[in-house]
Amino acid sequence: MSTPLTITEIMRFSDRLYRETEIISITADEGVHRSTYGAVFKRANQVAHVLDHLGVEPGNRVATLAWNDHRHLELYYGVSCSGAVLHTINPRLFPEQLAYIMNHANDQIVFFDPMFLPLVEGLADKLSSVNSYVVLTSKGKMPESSSLTLLCYEDLIAQNTSSYPWPVLEETTASALCYTSGTTGNPKGVLFDHRSTVLHAYGCCMANVLGLSHNDVVMPVVPMFHANAWGTPYSCPVAGSKIVLPGPKMADGETLHALIENEGVTIALGVPTVWQALLAYLKETGKTIDTLNRTLVGGSACPISIMEEFEKQHGVYTYHGWGMTEMSPLGTVNRLIPGMEKLEESDRNEVRAKQGRTPFGVDMKIVDADGKDLPHDGVTFGDLKVRGWWVADSYFGEDDNRETHDEAGWFSTGDVATIDQQGFLNITDRTKDVIKSGGEWISSIELENLAVAHPHVAEAAVIGINDKKWGERPHLVVVSPEGVTPDEDSILGSFKGKVADWWIPDSMSLVDSIPHTATGKISKATLRKQFTSTFE
Ligand code: ADP
Repeated sequence: MSTPLTITEIMRFSDRLYRETEIISITADEGVHRSTYGAVFKRANQVAHVLDHLGVEPGNRVATLAWNDHRHLELYYGVSCSGAVLHTINPRLFPEQLAYIMNHANDQIVFFDPMFLPLVEGLADKLSSVNSYVVLTSKGKMPESSSLTLLCYEDLIAQNTSSYPWPVLEETTASALCYTSGTTGNPKGVLFDHRSTVLHAYGCCMANVLGLSHNDVVMPVVPMFHANAWGTPYSCPVAGSKIVLPGPKMADGETLHALIENEGVTIALGVPTVWQALLAYLKETGKTIDTLNRTLVGGSACPISIMEEFEKQHGVYTYHGWGMTEMSPLGTVNRLIPGMEKLEESDRNEVRAKQGRTPFGVDMKIVDADGKDLPHDGVTFGDLKVRGWWVADSYFGEDDNRETHDEAGWFSTGDVATIDQQGFLNITDRTKDVIKSGGEWISSIELENLAVAHPHVAEAAVIGINDKKWGERPHLVVVSPEGVTPDEDSILGSFKGKVADWWIPDSMSLVDSIPHTATGKISKATLRKQFTSTFE
């Protein structure tokens, strides 16, 4: 039968089979909140009525500025299943970028957590299309605004019935929109549709990918405004997994520990810095995380030192993954293949540091500067291209995709990588971050991973510094753990024997903090600006 793949079917399925399965949230306004799939989907029906009353038409964009909690999940389903498009926005972007993307998306309504009121008030007169401002809270907790007419989410929900006549949607109906930094210029919108979302959810659940099931308790510590919390709002209901949503407390080791222990979390997903916070908390307090058995770490390269600490101290296995907003976002997951378990530890670690293999549904290759395919030998570097069922075929509002997609539909990721004979991807760098010394490439990621294994290094970044002789040379920027005076010779000396001598940074700077982008990644562009003048 050719029935459409829609998010509405995900909702129907888990409402039928997992109605009592729990959804636990830390909310921005009232602490821990306990709910269920049944309750969330019931309220998604009410959300759809609210949208009708507020004049939302099919295809209109509905924005959210919100942390991970049950209300955001209700909007995920209420908005997309009614035929509108959920535009999740990263509140950490600069106000000019926020105004740009909200106007570009032509957002009609914005639903936001109370803590973002000052941000929204500051933006409002720059927004050309927003006509309703809804605060995600209850009447008693409504903030006041002198400049905006605010609507109260819980009030609106309470005024509507919990049965909505969901429309029959084509599977290619747009469902959600998320802006990414893009390789150049303004942020770029990535528009997901129902079909790509369902296929991505299937892909994530597969045994060789995340292997999600109804025995899992899943904690996405990646924001629902960042590439749809890596698809977990859709894959968890498909698998029937209990969901634990940490709200605004994502960088707080104590909260993450309490949620894992109290809710029995079995798998958690997030970027490396989140896990550094949790691991530091566990080390300080001597506490354990007994139920957690695996983590998916991606978004930036995961150093082996994090994987080892998780495994040796806490019995938690780390899957390294790679993805992009343009890929919904899952691109690869590192699952060792039969036989690899028997490798010597150092060889196994070499494989585990790679970003892994594609699930069924994604294809990848590397090409040279002329677009010619390069061998998958684990040594040859090239520009990484992908295609597949959940890869975007253009950016939102841009008719011409020739800059990013070739004639056969392959998307240029902006990453430089190797792929080995067994299909394991190893990201060398972002194209714009790769260091070219004497015409040869040096991987800043590999150097950073080695640097953070040194006890004097808490966080590290390697950037290319102009050099008369070599073009560029690597420079190491380091943040040290509190109370530690780093020994430069010992840190720079620790690279010896682990990489080619000419890869070893010539110099090092100690800083109090390393700048990060709105999605929590090291901002190499800011660092380069900061250090270029130092070295001129
Ligand atoms: P943004 O640029 O807005 O942060 P994305 O989150 O979509 O947007 O970033 C995707 C990029 O993040 C990838 O192209 C890649 O450069 C980087 N990335 C993601 N996962 C990894 C990983 N495991 N190792 C190295 N780089 C990664």
